[in-house]
Amino acid sequence: LSGENEHFSQTDREIEKALRPLSFDDFTGQQKIVDNIQVFVLAAKKRGEPLDHVLLHGPPGLGKTTLSHIIANELESSLKITSGPVLDKPSDLAGLLTNLEQGDVLFIDEIHRLNAVVEEYLYSAMEDFRIDIMLDSGPNARSVQISLNPFTLIGATTRSGLLTSPLRARFGINARLEYYDSKLLTTIVTRSANILGAPIDEVAAYEIARRSRGTPRIANTLLRRTRDFADIKGNGTITLDIAKMGLDALDVDENGLDEMDNRILMTIIDKFKGGPVGISTIATACGEEGETIEEVYEPFLIQEGYLKRTSRGRVATELAYKHLNIRPNFGGQT
Ligand code: ATP
Repeated sequence: LSGENEHFSQTDREIEKALRPLSFDDFTGQQKIVDNIQVFVLAAKKRGEPLDHVLLHGPPGLGKTTLSHIIANELESSLKITSGPVLDKPSDLAGLLTNLEQGDVLFIDEIHRLNAVVEEYLYSAMEDFRIDIMLDSGPNARSVQISLNPFTLIGATTRSGLLTSPLRARFGINARLEYYDSKLLTTIVTRSANILGAPIDEVAAYEIARRSRGTPRIANTLLRRTRDFADIKGNGTITLDIAKMGLDALDVDENGLDEMDNRILMTIIDKFKGGPVGISTIATACGEEGETIEEVYEPFLIQEGYLKRTSRGRVATELAYKHLNIRPNFGGQT
């Protein structure tokens, strides 16, 4: 069975790769960011310089990795990918940096999770394209300076607030990716369906789009699952009815909230009288990591107006009560 699972995840990765836009023209949405980065890329190429370091932040699944691939493609450079938690020791970072060629792009995902020592090494690498490495320890300790080929660092983070100011200051380009509206996501769903060769009605594409939490990755996943319903329960075409059937079966509700979104709102209302309540208390009550609630669920619930962040904790809004069909009972109020 595990072999089968591996096979599936391999296929999933292949499909994800096939759906990934490869050029700025293919990339839907985030127009202002794309327009600006396109100018910066062209200018860097024209001057024969590496592109300034780029910080991409925003909730997961909005296209940070995709954009980095595109930037490297447009720079005609290669992209090396790593992530904050993987770079455990300065030597891990040094190994990567010394192998970069002129103009290469180094992508560090979850850059807010770099440990402090490794981060210090990154400063001189970003600023002066050199690193100082300590050889030996004790009385024999000496530092050796190694020059690096000029490169571009792209840092991605879901939590830009956790970045230290010295690190943040070293990025010349700083872009925040926003959730996508339903229209943009409809374009993405339609494009992906085309690539997959899955016939889809326009209204069905819109239905999937508007219930995808503003996130292309979720839109693509829901598309693939509703396509399964179309193949097994329908005639292969993703119609509105099939899309609704699939989305309901996947516990994605009418407003696009998934099971955990609803559990979070219900917990705040039911167990904590609507709040305010702290994130770690919500996390324990919902059986989910506090970090995941903060990075994945909360930003969307806040943006859609179901949740408010106050200095004393999270509060469910009137819309949350309405959504869950519960009558608000604000203590003392009538
Ligand atoms: P994470 O931080 O979780 O790694 P991410 O922000 O790096 O997420 P990506 O991996 O780039 O997100 O995107 C997820 C999927 O969504 C990709 O497979 C890609 O096909 C699709 N996608 C993302 N943005 C777009 C877009 N603007 N247009 C079309 N497809 C997109």
